[in-house]
Amino acid sequence: MHHLQLKFAALLASAAAVSCQNYAQLARKLSSTAHIYQPGSDAFNAAVLRWSNFSTPVANVVVVPGTENDVVETVKFANVHSLPFLATNGVHGSISTLGKMTHGIEIHMSQLSSIAVAQNGLTATIGGGVLSKNLTDALWAVGKQTVTGTCECVGYMGPGLGGGHGWLQGRYGLISDQYVSMNVVLANGSLITVDQRSELFWAMKGAGHNFGIVTSITSKIYDIQHPNYAMETLIFSGDKVEAVYALANQQWLTDGASMPVDLINWSYWYFDPTTDAEKPVIAFYIIQEGVQTVDAAHTNPFLQLGPITTQAVSGTYRDLAGWTGISLSSTPCQKTGNANPRFPIYLKSYNSTAQREVYDIFCTATTAPSSPFSNALFMFEGYSQQGVKAIGQDATAFAYRADNLLVAPLLTYTPNGTLVDAIASKLGNTMRNILFLGSGESSLNTYVNYAYGDETPVAWYGSDSWRQDRLCALKEDFDPRGQFSFYAPIV
Ligand SMILES: Cc1cc2nc3c(=O)[nH]c(=O)nc-3n(C[C@H](O)[C@H](O)[C@H](O)COP(=O)(O)OP(=O)(O)OC[C@H]3O[C@@H](n4cnc5c(N)ncnc54)[C@H](O)[C@@H]3O)c2cc1C
Repeated sequence: MHHLQLKFAALLASAAAVSCQNYAQLARKLSSTAHIYQPGSDAFNAAVLRWSNFSTPVANVVVVPGTENDVVETVKFANVHSLPFLATNGVHGSISTLGKMTHGIEIHMSQLSSIAVAQNGLTATIGGGVLSKNLTDALWAVGKQTVTGTCECVGYMGPGLGGGHGWLQGRYGLISDQYVSMNVVLANGSLITVDQRSELFWAMKGAGHNFGIVTSITSKIYDIQHPNYAMETLIFSGDKVEAVYALANQQWLTDGASMPVDLINWSYWYFDPTTDAEKPVIAFYIIQEGVQTVDAAHTNPFLQLGPITTQAVSGTYRDLAGWTGISLSSTPCQKTGNANPRFPIYLKSYNSTAQREVYDIFCTATTAPSSPFSNALFMFEGYSQQGVKAIGQDATAFAYRADNLLVAPLLTYTPNGTLVDAIASKLGNTMRNILFLGSGESSLNTYVNYAYGDETPVAWYGSDSWRQDRLCALKEDFDPRGQFSFYAPIV
C-alpha cells in the first residue's frame, strides 16, 4: 500500500508538466476518428458528467478513441507523462474509490461501439463502448440475445467486469459467464487477447476493472427462446413488510432454493405520498418469462395479503426495463447532479425481522421533515440463479454464486457538503449491517458494481483467502503499479 501511495504522489507531481503541445503530439498518433476534449469545452463537460455526483473521478482531458490502437497510444502517452487514466463508458460507476483519481486522462470508450454477430450465430464481438440497450436491440433484430445488465443506459462492459447480473442469468449465467475471449490493453500499453488459456481470463470475470481496458469482447449469444414476458406489480403499504417477505421466502427461497428459472422477483421501497402519505410503499414485481399473464400460483398468495393496488402488464423482453423504471427515459438514466451511493449486500433469503428493522429506519429517513433522503430507494433484486449456479463456484473471480438476492439502499440526495455525505454513509452502513446480522453469514458479501466504496477487497471479491491471493498475484503480474486501481482496487 505504501509503495502504491509513493507511486501516486509521483504521478501527481509530474501531471502539471503535460501541456497542450503534448496533447497535440498524442493527437498525431491517434486515428482520424479519435477526439481529444480539453476542459472548458461543451464536449469535455458532457463527457465528465456522471450518474452519481459523489466522490467522482477528475480528469484534465478526455480522449475518445476511434480505434483499438487509439487506446494503446493513449495508455502509452499516459505512461510517458506519468498520468493516471480511467476508462469510462456508461458513466454509471459510482464506487467512492473513483474519487481517488484527482487528475489525468478519461478514456471515453463510446466510439468503440461495434457489434458483429459471427456467421455461425453462436457469438458476437462487442466493442468496449457498447451500452446495454444497444446490444439488446442489435441482437434482437437478428433473433438473438445474450445476458446484459438490465438498465438500458449502463455500459455492457462495466457490469460484466464485476460479474454482471441480468434478466437472462437464470438461463445462461452472468454476463461474464458468456465471455469467450477479449481484447485488453494492459497497464504497459500492450494489447493482448485473453481467453480461457490465460490465467487473466479468470480474473477479468469478476475483478476485471483492476486489470486493463477492454476494447472488445466476444460473447456467447443465443436464439431468442422466450420473447414474451408478463409482470404483475403489487403495491403494499409498509405495515405488510414482514408478511410480504416471509411469503417470498416461503414461495421461492426455502431450504436453499432460488427463484424458479422463469421467474424474477424485484421490489423497491420508496416514499410516494400520493399512494401513502405517511410511509414508504413496497412495490413488488413478479416477472415471468414466456407467458401473457403471471401464473396465479405465484400471484395469488401475495394478492391475499391485500395490496393497495395491482397492475398486470404483458409484452416482450425489451419492455422489462421500462416496466421496472430503468429504461433510457427513466430517472436512473438521467444525470441529475444527485449523489447516488448504494450499500449492497447479497443474501440467500429474507429475514423478516431485519426487513422490518431496516424498513422503519428507511421510513424515518425518507419521511422526516426536510430529510435529504426523501427520494431514496431500497432495492431488492431476486433474479433466477440456475445458470449462475450451474457454473463452478471457483470458475471465475465472481465469488457470490451461492447467494440469491442482491439488496441495496440507494440513498439519492442533493450534494451539500461533507456532513450530508457522512450522514448518508452512516445511514447506509447501519441498514446494511442490520441485514448482515440478520443473514447469519460470517462475511459481508457485496456486489462490487453496486459497492459504496468503504467495503474491503474481501467483501468485493470473496472471503476465501485463495481468492485474495490469486487476485493479488495477478495484480502484481499485470498491473504492478496499480494503474487500474481506481475502481474497487484489489490492493
Ligand atoms: C441505474 C443502474 C442500473 C444498473 N444495473 C445493473 C445491472 O442490471 N446489472 C449489473 O450487473 N450492474 C448494474 N449496475 C451496476 C453497474 O454494473 C456499474 O455501475 C458499472 O460500473 C457501470 O458501468 P458503466 O460503463 O455504465 O459505468 P462507467 O462509470 O463508465 O464505468 C465503470 C467502470 O468500469 C470500468 N470500465 C468501463 N468500461 C470499460 C472498458 N471498456 N474496459 C475496462 N474497464 C471499463 C472502469 O473501471 C470504470 O470506472 C447498475 C448501475 C446503475 C446505476
